[in-house]
Amino acid sequence: MELQQKFEKAAEAIKNSTAIIITAGAGMGVDSGLPDFRGDKGFWKAYPMYKKLGINFVNAANPTHFNQDPAFGWGFYGHRLNLYRKTIPHEGFNLILQWIKRYNLDYFIVTSNVDGQFQKAGFPEEKVCEVHGSIHYLQCTKPCNADIWGNNEIIEINYENMRAEYLPKCPNCGEVARPNILMFGDFSWISNRTMDQEKNFSKFLQSHQKDKIVVIEIGAGTAVPTIRNLTEQLGKQFNTKIIRINPREYQIAPPHISLACGGLEGLQEIDKILNS
Ligand SMILES: [Zn+2]
Repeated sequence: MELQQKFEKAAEAIKNSTAIIITAGAGMGVDSGLPDFRGDKGFWKAYPMYKKLGINFVNAANPTHFNQDPAFGWGFYGHRLNLYRKTIPHEGFNLILQWIKRYNLDYFIVTSNVDGQFQKAGFPEEKVCEVHGSIHYLQCTKPCNADIWGNNEIIEINYENMRAEYLPKCPNCGEVARPNILMFGDFSWISNRTMDQEKNFSKFLQSHQKDKIVVIEIGAGTAVPTIRNLTEQLGKQFNTKIIRINPREYQIAPPHISLACGGLEGLQEIDKILNS
């Protein structure tokens, strides 16, 4: 099937559904100008300083830094925090919001991204599930309790050595605070906030058991397959049609729809058809 025909099928699936689920991975942020850390090369292109230090993404996104050398841990996450705060979500987010309104769709967002871009684009907090947590929330590094609080800290970075010049603190014990993000090999992540979001998502699924659901998976790769696995599970368990948008790892078995293109391009092409 030609790509154009697939865009038409995707548009039809959206029009014929009563609810929409967006499952998004790092590829969703690429069109907003965010790096997706594809392989060591991709990571070092975004962070040349770590190349000199011989540190890859798995090493940098590691909770041990917060215990052993928090200024170094916050160097990486402080940089990302500043980047995500500056970033403006691309037009694709807005197109999804328009479809929801126009076709009166109930909806839910599940993302492995910790960047808060869906909320920034106007999706309400209670409609988003952030499976790996969010950089816009903090927790104690120890942790001394299960508190999670909003991250309003200003964290300056010295880009020469990728070290933070300021460390946020836990208001309860005074220990360094860390982002409420699930890192690699992380046993201290406090999952309460994500668990509450997962409960909201379960309720959403319960209330749409008999409905036609369209799932649009955007930019979710196989390297950390959390989102891909969820999408495929939804494809088996519910009355769903999956639209997988991915420029590289686009394969999915019919009747689901595979769009071999970037997130924004895919959404824009579908939108053109919906408007014609
Ligand atoms: Zn504490």
